[in-house]
Amino acid sequence: MLALVKTGPGPGLSLETVPDPRIGINDVLVRVRKTGICGTDLHIESWDPWAEKTIVPPLIVGHEFVGRVVEVGSNVADFRPGDLVSGEGHVVCGRCRHCLAGRRHLCAHTVGLGVGRDGAFAEFVTLPMTNVWHHWPGIDEEVAAIFDPFGNAVHTALAFSVLGEDVLVSGAGPIGLMAAAVARHAGARFVVVSEPNPFRRALALRMGATAVVDPREQDLHEVQAELGMVEGFDVAFEMSGNAAALRGAISNMAHGGSIAMLGIPTAEIALDMNEIVFKMLTLRGIYGREMYETWYKMTVMLQSGLDIKPVITHRFSFRDHEAAFAAARAGASGKVIMDWQA
Ligand code: NAD
Ligand code: ZN
Repeated sequence: MLALVKTGPGPGLSLETVPDPRIGINDVLVRVRKTGICGTDLHIESWDPWAEKTIVPPLIVGHEFVGRVVEVGSNVADFRPGDLVSGEGHVVCGRCRHCLAGRRHLCAHTVGLGVGRDGAFAEFVTLPMTNVWHHWPGIDEEVAAIFDPFGNAVHTALAFSVLGEDVLVSGAGPIGLMAAAVARHAGARFVVVSEPNPFRRALALRMGATAVVDPREQDLHEVQAELGMVEGFDVAFEMSGNAAALRGAISNMAHGGSIAMLGIPTAEIALDMNEIVFKMLTLRGIYGREMYETWYKMTVMLQSGLDIKPVITHRFSFRDHEAAFAAARAGASGKVIMDWQA
């Protein structure tokens, strides 16, 4: 099969012919139809310090996909050839305390698809059956292809109740954009999106943000005053990994507010702990998706009218992977899709 491979240490990815994957008795083999490019894929492609210490080449990259089942292992009863599926990219151990208690998102031994095992930027991918998610017939395949980052957005946006609350979203990358839409859908009053990139601010308004702000130009306290807010934000989603964004969120929270933290900083961040203590804030780290409550909620929210389609801004054939990666790296993009059917 053809696959996008990190063949050795250093920048770049190459389209290679590699052996078709083999399945074990508990596995599902999927013919990949469409994939999404994630920031993680960009880190691996450019071979930054994180990739250098994390990735062992050769590795097929990619973890956001939709495809059709072609073959199942002898133990697998719930999936059949032809089923339209996506995969949960975190393969957990199944044996630790949390896994056994059904809290698989808390597993400390998670292996990432396209990070610690061969991934989905290929004609075929395999996963344990416990990592495969059935889509309902008729789902938009591009939306199905990005269930993994959509799941990050939903897990973060539902970490705290947003019904009737005022929400701050720091960072309008693809995940922040989807989280803004989820917060509106889930009943937030104001959803203010802070983002320096003008393309992404415009996209945030299309996704349902009630206001957008360029944090370099305007202070969030001013935005609060313009909106008639008096208490501060009840809930914030930190989706930038940026130190100034996190500090800005903390100083604009209402007493008793909650911050769901998904963004991954590249260095340590110093915080004014007094502000956290005296405002009695809750800060909660979010990693991945809840298996499979988040997947259930994604499905139900799409079926009840949530529209995340505007986040998809670019489409390429897998053969044009260099152009696709360039588009994902450029600021003027939301989610970039590669098609593997051609
Ligand atoms: P992204 O890099 O596309 O988006 C981040 C956005 O933050 C960018 O648009 C950037 O312009 C913006 N930003 C930069 N400085 C800012 C500031 N001071 N204030 C407000 N916004 C600012 O990333 P993404 O794919 O949308 O992912 C969001 C974050 O979540 C990233 O940090 C990513 O690494 C992380 N992530 C975490 C998980 C997890 O499971 N915890 C999973 C996927 C991604
Ligand atoms: Zn485990």
